Amino acid sequence: MSNAVVVGAGLAGSLVSVYLARRGFAVRVLERREDPRTPGTREAGRSINLGLSQRGIVALREIGLLDALKPLTVPMRGRVVHSPDGALRFQPYGTDDDQILHSVLRHDLNVALIDEAEKQGVEFLWRHKVVGVDRDKPSVATDAGEFEADLVIGADGAFSAVRTHLGRGRRTTLHQEYLEWGYKELLIPVGDDGEPRTELRALHVWPGDDGLIVAHPNADGSLTATMFLPFEGPHGFAGLDTPARVREFLARRFPDTLTLIPDVVEQFLAHPPANLVTIRTAPWHSSTGGGRGVVLLGDAAHAVYPFFGQGMNAAFEDCSVLDRCLAAHPHDLPKALAAFEDARRPHTDVLAELSRRNFVELRAKLRSPLFLARKKADLVLHRLFPRSWVPLYTLIAHTTTPYGEALARSKRQDRLLATTTALLCLIAATSSRRLGRLVGRLIAPPRGRR
Ligand code: FAD
Repeated sequence: MSNAVVVGAGLAGSLVSVYLARRGFAVRVLERREDPRTPGTREAGRSINLGLSQRGIVALREIGLLDALKPLTVPMRGRVVHSPDGALRFQPYGTDDDQILHSVLRHDLNVALIDEAEKQGVEFLWRHKVVGVDRDKPSVATDAGEFEADLVIGADGAFSAVRTHLGRGRRTTLHQEYLEWGYKELLIPVGDDGEPRTELRALHVWPGDDGLIVAHPNADGSLTATMFLPFEGPHGFAGLDTPARVREFLARRFPDTLTLIPDVVEQFLAHPPANLVTIRTAPWHSSTGGGRGVVLLGDAAHAVYPFFGQGMNAAFEDCSVLDRCLAAHPHDLPKALAAFEDARRPHTDVLAELSRRNFVELRAKLRSPLFLARKKADLVLHRLFPRSWVPLYTLIAHTTTPYGEALARSKRQDRLLATTTALLCLIAATSSRRLGRLVGRLIAPPRGRR
């Protein structure tokens, strides 16, 4: 039996350990944190809840956990867009009933995955921080000793120690970019009557060029809002440092948060803002002559800004694709790891770009009439030609079309729409000129009487 060491018991690490155990690996997971099932261990500064979409759903279905998780999730059928004047506008995600996202607490999902992994025989070693990797053995070093394995998986997040050691002394590309905006999380509690304070079955968005809020619903009727603001500048986190300044800013920019979150000012000032980072790196794997190897997945390989809600979903898809590559090359681990990187890296690079673009869309475009008309045209065309016309958002969130193919297809659709619109305008202009001439001829006085 081959053995595997997974570094990180986050979402990707705990899921991949299930896949590996099912494929016959003896699996150990090394995690620097305490066991999240221990009461009072919630980690500060992490996003509390997440939007699960099709790619994540497929992976959870593959390991047989989807049905057990359903009661812990809240379906989101579209976006509710909040305006500063208090107006709310609902924008559905898609045309089909199954084109919905599911909001789930990170903690609940993580614990369910760890429980499932233990059922499959995976061993978790908590408070084991990995401080080094020898990619030639391969092995990982922790404060508590060294662990050797046939396969080492770096699922240790955006600031991956495995990635750092994998890249040492070889030609490695590493692109790391911090956004000049950060985020804070705020809880919209249930109302005094025990009911949700706003529509629960939707993602809520407060768009704006100088600040943005996104809120996901929770199964208990509360919502978790993530407020994104620039770190610096007149309305950045740095300047919002007194209750009076925070209250004035919220009253002007996001007035309904003052009623939705009774202690919003206290919550805002209670924690420092967290960073957002994009990571692209290559290569993701290394192999030994003896048929062993090290590979990265999840945020360790490709952290993206959260504006497309795809970081975890892409990480889950990684686990599913790696499993398929291991199945395709059961006796050749190096080939399986190379196939995995070839299958994933080009597409997660595209996801990084799409996530950056969606930052602009969420901030500035959600209230633009032109953008909304374009979105409507997309949905109408999708309804008319459900197979041949699929909007980019639908391809990313509601299908498993590889990210690069989704982008290429949406560019073709954009070109077609632009050409068709131009043609229609031309026809309209031409026929209106002809019509004009005809009308002119009909009503013009006969020659000689002018
Ligand atoms: P992580 O979740 O970061 O897990 C890494 C694990 O490795 C951690 O447990 C950590 O303690 C451990 N670790 C780190 N270093 C070591 C070490 N040296 N030794 C041992 N253990 C170590 N994604 C979505 O799909 N949908 C969303 O709606 C969404 N919303 C988001 C909102 C925000 C504000 C943010 C910031 C992200 C969001 N994401 C979302 C992205 C998602 O959170 C990440 O993509 C996902 O958590 C990646 O999982 P991971 O297991 O790769 O990394």
